[in-house]
Amino acid sequence: MVAARWLLPRWTVTLRPVSAAAAAGAFPKRVKVVEVGPRDGLQNEKNVVPTPVKINLINMLSETGLSVIEATSFVSPKWVPQMADHTEVMRGINKLPGISYPVLTPNLKGFQAAVAAGAKEVAIFGAASELFTKKNINCSIDESLERFSEVMTAARAASIPVRGYVSCVLGCPYEGKISTAKVAEVSKKMYSMGCYEISLGDTIGIGTPGSMKEMLTAVMKEVPVGALAVHCHDTYGQALANILVALQMGVSVVDASVAGLGGCPYAQGASGNVATEDLVYMLNGLGIHTGVDLQKLMDTGTFICNALNRRTNSKVSQASCRL
Ligand SMILES: [Zn+2]
Repeated sequence: MVAARWLLPRWTVTLRPVSAAAAAGAFPKRVKVVEVGPRDGLQNEKNVVPTPVKINLINMLSETGLSVIEATSFVSPKWVPQMADHTEVMRGINKLPGISYPVLTPNLKGFQAAVAAGAKEVAIFGAASELFTKKNINCSIDESLERFSEVMTAARAASIPVRGYVSCVLGCPYEGKISTAKVAEVSKKMYSMGCYEISLGDTIGIGTPGSMKEMLTAVMKEVPVGALAVHCHDTYGQALANILVALQMGVSVVDASVAGLGGCPYAQGASGNVATEDLVYMLNGLGIHTGVDLQKLMDTGTFICNALNRRTNSKVSQASCRL
């Protein structure tokens, strides 16, 4: 039956076996939603948010049923002034059992400060674009990964899980198109270094379901799909469509930001991450379990939008307000 083989989608005949559900294009039964609003969202907001507001936001998110809430970033305040209160935030929040509160740690110094402040999980961030890495941290991709090895070693010694971000997976503000081979290569390196999960970030929100499928097909040959997450910004209005494609391909971890907080410093008028409310609404509609209470999530979105004096980017919240 050689002919039948050609009818199969390409990724069913790759070296690494995919799950039966993914091969059939079926959706996962449950999805882990990783809330990145307090970090990725707020760090890209124009206004610096008072520490008590951040603590309140995270505490409210903890009551919604989310199991992962990225709390802050232990980068130098010189780079990211919005996250200068990282220690106060980590010490101030109510850390509920069963919820993980990862923080970003770009280097060993940040890692040590994070652990001292009570962090039990950290994240490191690489990019699939040489020019993006050069402009942001003034080194090559390989050099940037080398810098993380210190963090990985320290994390392993302390039994702290590390999540890896790969930025610019569907396009770069400087390089434009990014080759899927490069994304697969960087993802593989970060996974091999010991990251338990690789979050593939469409940092400028330029991807489409077509480019998402192409990129994931390449990455899934190098990293098991169970260790992959997608992180979609909604700049071109494609985030939910891109996420849907990723779910059909077997991805079951999705990053999102309450109220669609954030922006993108590299694209004018760009919107932030996909709104967590909109993601949960879509997953509810698909019958996919998240454990997240949509109403509580919307209340949290209202709280932070009032505090920031901005309009929500969640379409679900906008629609519900008018009802
Ligand atoms: Zn992001």
